[in-house]
Amino acid sequence: MVSHDAPVSSVPAPALRAFGERFRGRLVGPGDEGYDEARTIWNGAIDRRPGLVARCSAASDVENAVRFAREHDLRMSVRSGGHGVGGLALCDDGLVVDLSGLKGIRVDEENGLAEVEAGVTLGELDRATQAFGLAVPAGIVTHTGVAGLTLGGGIGWLTRKHGLSVDNLVGADVVTADGQLVAASADDHPDLFWGLRGGGGNFGVVTSFRFRAHPIGPAVLAGPMLFPLERGPEVMQTYRGWAAEAPEELTTVLNVRRAPAAPWIPEPLHGVPMWMVVCCWCGPVEAGDAVVQPIRALGPILDLCEPKPWLEHQAMFDGAVTPGWHYYWKSVELDELTEPAVAAIVDHVARITSPRSYAVAFQLGGAMSRIGEMDTAYAGRSPAFDVNINGVWLPEEAETSPVPAVLEYIPYRKNDATALRDEDFHRHPAAADDEEGVGRVALPHQVLAVLEDLVLGATRDQGEVLLGHPVEVLRLGEQLLNGLH
Ligand SMILES: Cc1cc2nc3c(=O)[nH]c(=O)nc-3n(C[C@H](O)[C@H](O)[C@H](O)COP(=O)(O)OP(=O)(O)OC[C@H]3O[C@@H](n4cnc5c(N)ncnc54)[C@H](O)[C@@H]3O)c2cc1C
Repeated sequence: MVSHDAPVSSVPAPALRAFGERFRGRLVGPGDEGYDEARTIWNGAIDRRPGLVARCSAASDVENAVRFAREHDLRMSVRSGGHGVGGLALCDDGLVVDLSGLKGIRVDEENGLAEVEAGVTLGELDRATQAFGLAVPAGIVTHTGVAGLTLGGGIGWLTRKHGLSVDNLVGADVVTADGQLVAASADDHPDLFWGLRGGGGNFGVVTSFRFRAHPIGPAVLAGPMLFPLERGPEVMQTYRGWAAEAPEELTTVLNVRRAPAAPWIPEPLHGVPMWMVVCCWCGPVEAGDAVVQPIRALGPILDLCEPKPWLEHQAMFDGAVTPGWHYYWKSVELDELTEPAVAAIVDHVARITSPRSYAVAFQLGGAMSRIGEMDTAYAGRSPAFDVNINGVWLPEEAETSPVPAVLEYIPYRKNDATALRDEDFHRHPAAADDEEGVGRVALPHQVLAVLEDLVLGATRDQGEVLLGHPVEVLRLGEQLLNGLH
């Protein structure tokens, strides 16, 4: 079997020149101006030195780059928004196919559709769709990339009402492993379309997405209610029943951390450990007050849940995850936030000294849970919460990185009876990482099942490794395209 792991330096000079002549975007190699910028992604802890970054200007550049990588058996990675936490967007010595410059967005107001190129960020998408009073369900930080987020599922404030990002995907243009651009949808290449919806970047390089968009805003009733950390267990007693019964227009995110020095938090609270219930009610604003009342009645120390523009709410967490800081994230999905689970989170957060690290629990359920487990490649539609334990430190704090603390916490969670299967720990691309900083992501179990059926005869371990060799992985897309699934 061919390794697809050759460095760009192995390509003969005439072949490299010929590629440069065909490629309409910019090729940036070591020593070229802008090389360091081209190899910088959101997580400052990732320091990889690609052999060549192909900054694509159009889908034809993506086709050319994939063919070039295949011809020369190159190690290859795909970068869009650059927010993959484990840094799989970059590969040492190989070819980075960089789609971050593909910024086209076209909103079809009449049909409630948005056509979005792969380099678009969530903030850019929100601004474009809100001009028509619409929104595409996506994530909760504006600088995240639409592409990686969508291919991994896409959880956010609208998930319970309108489903995951993949549940709103109606089509995509994809470059498969043979460098062919194809349109995938429920009608065209349905197997490939199935794989794109939750299978991560394993089935091809997506150049453009077509989404359903929904009427949202311009105002939503949203924002955090803050409680001192030690009140977490008491707040959760009310929260559990309330959240379980809440209309799907309401989504909550529990954010547990030392209060950040954000402009929306009064200075005396900065650094104080807090249990925050962050709400977003996307129904008629006037109806939301009654819905959030049970949590408000508990008497938060700070109540910032109020009517505000959807765009403002979407930017709320931006400052807490600044590009360039160092990050190590792990996640686990839970059926319920039991008393032991809450106690564990309180215990963990009470010991965090960092003003930047945090735990966050996304409330799930609603529309996403009504889609069949096998209808898309996304695995795990039934859990009620996605809990993330996020270690954050500054570049100059490398000596005191919280990675060991994050790892200590995760095995604890693993032993909790409410935790799901072990493999779910790394299911989401956001959780991609291991101690050495080498990307290792276990694929969704449906995708693994497909893998095991295919000629690759991949095992679960190989499934993890495969993500580091996208050209080979992209062949899965070909297989699906040929209807083998
Ligand atoms: C600050 C922050 C906030 C986040 N918030 C949320 C959230 O609210 N909800 C949520 O669900 N997730 C969230 N995530 C996780 C996020 O969805 C993933 O990290 C996602 O991979 C980021 O996509 P990207 O395009 O920015 O990243 P990239 O690093 O560019 O891509 C990540 C991986 O996706 C694949 N990929 C990227 N583009 C393509 C493409 N065009 N075709 C094929 N494969 C591709 C590649 O394998 C790549 O390595 C967040 C992450 C961060 C860092």
